[in-house]
Amino acid sequence: MATRTEIFRELMREYDMIRTEKAGELRQRKEALYTSIPRLAEIERSLALLGTKMARRMLMRGANPEEIVAELRLEQNALEMERQELLASKQFSPKLLELEYECAACQDTGFIGTERCLCLKKRLMDKMYDQSNVRKIIEMEHFDHFDFRYYSKEAWQNETKTPFENAQKIYARAIRFTEEFPKGEHLLLTGGTGLGKTFLCNCMAKELLEKGNMVLYLTSSQLFKKLEEQRFNKNNDDEEAKEWDQELLEADLLIIDDLGTEFSTVFTATELFRIVNDRILANKSMVISTNLSMEELMNSYSDRVTSRLFGEFILLHFYGEDIRLQKKFGK
Ligand SMILES: [Zn+2]
Repeated sequence: MATRTEIFRELMREYDMIRTEKAGELRQRKEALYTSIPRLAEIERSLALLGTKMARRMLMRGANPEEIVAELRLEQNALEMERQELLASKQFSPKLLELEYECAACQDTGFIGTERCLCLKKRLMDKMYDQSNVRKIIEMEHFDHFDFRYYSKEAWQNETKTPFENAQKIYARAIRFTEEFPKGEHLLLTGGTGLGKTFLCNCMAKELLEKGNMVLYLTSSQLFKKLEEQRFNKNNDDEEAKEWDQELLEADLLIIDDLGTEFSTVFTATELFRIVNDRILANKSMVISTNLSMEELMNSYSDRVTSRLFGEFILLHFYGEDIRLQKKFGK
């Protein structure tokens, strides 16, 4: 997994390539146009020389700068006008002589002033997704595809709502979460396997990514494996570990899917507390999904962790019959 600096460097190279490519395309378009209308080439040369011409005249004795500027502007307008007419006479668009941009907002630099352009944020996210292998899933899943047919409309155990009503309520809450984002809210999705938790995580990730947010999506095993590598691998430089920490804290949304499936150690428990606590303090949203019950969570993690989870997270608990099994047996 590359660090943010590496990804960043790679992206800057990509922008470079885009600009070179666009400049090359412009050159080709010009060549073709100038072959077809040779006068256009002359006009371009004259326009390019106007600046030097002006500078030379300014240096002459008794030069009147205002007059010179006005005269040259006239000349420039006349040349531009002629060019426009020539293009129009052959039904060519004036755009053919302009540099094209993939992103007009930042002119393919990735920055607007010192701010990152939305296109850069998207590219950054794209790269991160390539690395966490969830792109394919995210492409397929969408709030509109949430299928309520698999949730029973009959009473379920001691619950007051049917699985169907409950799923609808959770679904609406997840949509509100993305609509009101970023509000610093945290969601804890619980319930057995095959009830739609991961699906909902994917939908939220997709929705917020499309709005240009930085979403970091990791299964709990991916997260802890990575953290362990960072801590215990002596070959890793500190810089990379620092960047990773920063990533975990700074992403607009951190999704930890399937908490409890990681190989749990004192280390994972400490790290989990640190991440959750830091993000709560920084008012940065998290979505955590888990198959573990409240009791299992309390047994697996320290009180410090569970008190954060139960105190700061909005609990969305799924129940009902396993959808994957229903699909498999054609129910
Ligand atoms: Zn841009």
